[in-house]
Amino acid sequence: MRVVKKALVIGGGVAGIQAALDIADGGYQVILVEKTPSIGGHMAQYAEVFPTLDCPQCILTPKMVDVGQHPNITLLTYAEVQKVSGEVGNFQVEILQKARKVDHTKCTGCGTCWQKCPEKIPSEYDAGVADRAAIYIPFAQAVPAKAVIDTEHCRYIKYLDFMESGAEGKKPPQCRICERLCPAGAIYWEQEDEIITEQVGAIVVATGFDLMPVERLPEYADDPDVIDGIQFERILCPGGPTAGVVHRPSDGKTPKEVVFVSCAGSRDPEHGVPHCSRVCCMYLAKQAMLFKHAVHDGQTHIFYIDTRTTGKGYEEFLQRTMAEGTVYLRGKVSRIYRDGDKIKVMGVDTLSGKQVEVSADLVVLGMAMLPSIGSQELADRLGITTNEQGFFTENHIKIDPLESTCPGIYLAGAAQGPKDIPDSVAQGSGAASKVLGLFARSEKTPEGLTVS
Ligand SMILES: Cc1cc2nc3c(=O)[nH]c(=O)nc-3n(C[C@H](O)[C@H](O)[C@H](O)COP(=O)(O)OP(=O)(O)OC[C@H]3O[C@@H](n4cnc5c(N)ncnc54)[C@H](O)[C@@H]3O)c2cc1C
Repeated sequence: MRVVKKALVIGGGVAGIQAALDIADGGYQVILVEKTPSIGGHMAQYAEVFPTLDCPQCILTPKMVDVGQHPNITLLTYAEVQKVSGEVGNFQVEILQKARKVDHTKCTGCGTCWQKCPEKIPSEYDAGVADRAAIYIPFAQAVPAKAVIDTEHCRYIKYLDFMESGAEGKKPPQCRICERLCPAGAIYWEQEDEIITEQVGAIVVATGFDLMPVERLPEYADDPDVIDGIQFERILCPGGPTAGVVHRPSDGKTPKEVVFVSCAGSRDPEHGVPHCSRVCCMYLAKQAMLFKHAVHDGQTHIFYIDTRTTGKGYEEFLQRTMAEGTVYLRGKVSRIYRDGDKIKVMGVDTLSGKQVEVSADLVVLGMAMLPSIGSQELADRLGITTNEQGFFTENHIKIDPLESTCPGIYLAGAAQGPKDIPDSVAQGSGAASKVLGLFARSEKTPEGLTVS
C-alpha cells in the first residue's frame, strides 16, 4: 500500500503545535485542524508557567507564528473533523470549515469591528471573567489574527433568523455596524460552512483537556468568588482583563486571603473522577506564589490530600511557595459557606488533628482535568478507544504510549491523560517522529495482511 505523505493534526494546543512543526520541518505537508478561531490551547491563557515562571506568551507565540507561516502547514481554525475512513497510510478525512462570516483574505485584524460591536458575551479565552464582542479574535496574539462572527450572538444574524422564521413580535435590531465600519470590506454575510476533503497517511490527535465544570460539585457552585484555576490565571495575568491587578469577581475588591482547594473533583470517585489531574498541585503552588507577588500583604492557604511534584525542579518550586509564606493544610475541605463579605472554608488539618476554619475573600479550585468536550465523538469517528474517564487509549501504556489503538493514529498531550507542558511538548515531538518514521517508508504492509 502506498503511504500518503501528508499528516493531519487535530488540536492546536502546545502538543498539536509541536507535532505539526516537527512533521512540517521534516519536509512533509501537515493540515492542522483547530476547533476554536485560534491555535494556542490552554497555555495561551496562563499568567506565568511553572516551574520557571516564564511568560507563556513569550515562549508559545513564536511557535504559533511559525505554524501560521510554515510553507508545509495548512492551518484550518474554526474547523472540525467530521468523518474519517481508510487505514494507516491512506485515510480519507472530511473537515467542516465553519463559516466565519469574515473574508480572511481581506481582514487585517485591525480591531475596528470588535471595538464597536455592541453585543457583549463572556469571553471563552478569559474563562468568563471578561466579555468579548460578537465579532472577535479570541486574544491579541491569536493565530490567525483574523476576526470571526459568532453567529449565535450576532444581532444581525439573529435579525435574519427572526425574519426567516416568520415569527411574530418585536424584531431584533439590524445592527451591521461591523460591516459599515470595516475599512477592508471584509464582512461576508453570505459565507456558509464548507466541507473540505483531504487524504492523509497519518493522524495525530492532540485535542487536550477541559476542566470539570464547578457545577458538578454543588457545594462550590453559585458563589462568584469561588473560581477555577483558569479563571484565576486570567485574573493574575499582566496581559489579562485586569492587567494583573487582582480583583475578586463579586465586587472588584482586592482579596487579602485566598484559599486554594486541591483535588476538587479529582481522586474522588464518589463525587468526581478517580484519576489524579497531575498538574493541580503545581499550578496552585504557582498561583499562590504569583498572588503573593501581586498582593504583598496577601495570605494564602492550600488544602491538599498530598502534594505530587514529580517533574524536574517541581519539588524545589513547591518548597519555594512554602518558604514565601503559603500555609499548606493537609486535609479535605468539609464545608464551605458564605458569611457576609467572607467565605468560610472548613476542614480538618490531619497533621495536627485539629478542625480548621479559614475566612477567605476568594477561593480557587484545582478542578479535575477531563478530556476535551467532544472527545468521545471524535474517538468514534476515528475508530479509536478511550478509557473510563474518556481519555484516548494508547496501544500499549508502557511500550507503545504514542500510538492509539488504530495503526497510523497517534496521540499527544493531555488528550491521552492529564499532563504538564513539558510532557505535552515531548509527546507532540514523539508523535511527530512516529509519523516521520511511517513517511520514511514509501510503502506499508497493512498489519494482518502479510503475504507469505
Ligand atoms: C489552571 C492551569 C494552569 C496550568 N499551568 C501550567 C504551568 O504553569 N506549567 C505547565 O507545565 N502546565 C500547566 N498546566 C497544564 C497545561 O495546561 C497542559 O499541559 C497543556 O495545556 C496541554 O496541552 P495540549 O496541547 O495537550 O492541550 P490544550 O492546551 O487543551 O490544547 C488542545 C487544543 O485542541 C483543541 N481541540 C479540542 N478538541 C478539538 C477537536 N475535536 N478538533 C479540533 N481541535 C480541538 C482545543 O481547542 C485546544 O486548542 C496548567 C493547567 C491548568 C488547568
